[in-house]
Amino acid sequence: MLRIPDLIKKKRDGGALSDEEIAAFIQAVTNKTIQDAQIGAMLMAIWLKDMAATETEALTREMMSSGEVMSWPEEWAGLVVDKHSTGGVGDKVSLVLAPALAACGCKVPMISGRGLAHTGGTLDKLESIPGFNIHQSTEQILQILDSVGCCIVGQTEMLVPADRVLYAVRDTTSTVDSLPLITASIISKKGAESLSALMLDVKFGRAALCKDLSSAKELAQSLLRAGNGLGIPTGAVLSCMDATIGRCVGNSLEVVESLETLKGNGPEDLMELVTTLGGALLTITGSVFDLSEGRKRISDAVTGGAALAKFQDMMEAQGVSAQAARSLCSPHTDYYSVLRRAEHQTELEAPGHGPVLDLDGLVLAEVLHKLGAGRSKAGEPVNHSVGAELLVSLGQVVKKGDPWLRIHYEDPSPTPDQINRLQNALILGSDENAQTQQKRTLVKELLLPD
Ligand code: URA
Repeated sequence: MLRIPDLIKKKRDGGALSDEEIAAFIQAVTNKTIQDAQIGAMLMAIWLKDMAATETEALTREMMSSGEVMSWPEEWAGLVVDKHSTGGVGDKVSLVLAPALAACGCKVPMISGRGLAHTGGTLDKLESIPGFNIHQSTEQILQILDSVGCCIVGQTEMLVPADRVLYAVRDTTSTVDSLPLITASIISKKGAESLSALMLDVKFGRAALCKDLSSAKELAQSLLRAGNGLGIPTGAVLSCMDATIGRCVGNSLEVVESLETLKGNGPEDLMELVTTLGGALLTITGSVFDLSEGRKRISDAVTGGAALAKFQDMMEAQGVSAQAARSLCSPHTDYYSVLRRAEHQTELEAPGHGPVLDLDGLVLAEVLHKLGAGRSKAGEPVNHSVGAELLVSLGQVVKKGDPWLRIHYEDPSPTPDQINRLQNALILGSDENAQTQQKRTLVKELLLPD
């Protein structure tokens, strides 16, 4: 009989836990036969002593099996796909990618999360659409995948219950930022979706969890090992997260930008991520010959309107009225006849002349967070209408006084200090820089399974 204090001691002293010992720990967490203090002690021991790859794989597998593991009809074999992003600013990729993949014949049971700290969450974005219900049972998910091909939902009570317990204790014991714990948490939930292929978007940069490329690569390698270890062919992109993805940040504004993208008017950086992640998934599942064909299939689904039709169907299947869904998806709609617009808008003017070299996405996200766009603690409400629209592009030459940012706010209003931080977040160069500006690409590396 394994005793929890002995397991904690073994990890505390730097030992490697066996598969059996990890299974005993996760079973105790799931069955609630372990004290919170013991969970906290084990998590801190893992944080301090790390885990070998084999331990991380065992932890991932045991967490995945702590609850329901979804199963799909046989005829969907090879078609069930998903992606995961480590979180960014203005990251609305899922809203475009899920329906684009469905339009290419995939089944996408996308289980997403909410925003925390400065990063946004896909579920919050979708909940800015009146009626959109992210709570769907396993049976409902199956039905929506059958009729539409994609859904974007929250984690059900039955899915990876061990993660719910561990995440809450990690949050209160300063053990969130541990590579094996992050890996097991993310991949166990994807494993429970019984996927045929998974793509990870591991971000690096000032507005990302990983501040540099080498730490992002380390996280990507750990995630890839765990995903492939579960038998899910898993790939990853390493993408830059310094500024913002697209021009809009904030829940309902990001829905508007996603809909515009699905109408063929998307920003290049967003389309680069959507076509790379989607193209890679189609390549891994063998639906296309190679990545460039995969990219083209996804791009055609977005620009040709097939993905927009899937998004409309998904909204209706998840509770949005047919009239609102139709209105949001029609060509010349007034988005704010359906979505709520913030009571106030104010524009910031460029403090000087020159090409826009950079924008600090972290500062933008932090200010919007304080204005109510994000939450500091799980469970807190967010104001969906708070956000900002970038009115200039990187590389564009601006004149002093040109409007460069439109802030949408309610209560509180931005303070002079916050306005000052935003003004300093815009980095302007000299005219010589204008000539040397190169096309900006976000994806720095693409790692596909063998
Ligand atoms: N997302 C998760 O689901 N878990 C983590 O630990 C980090 C990000």
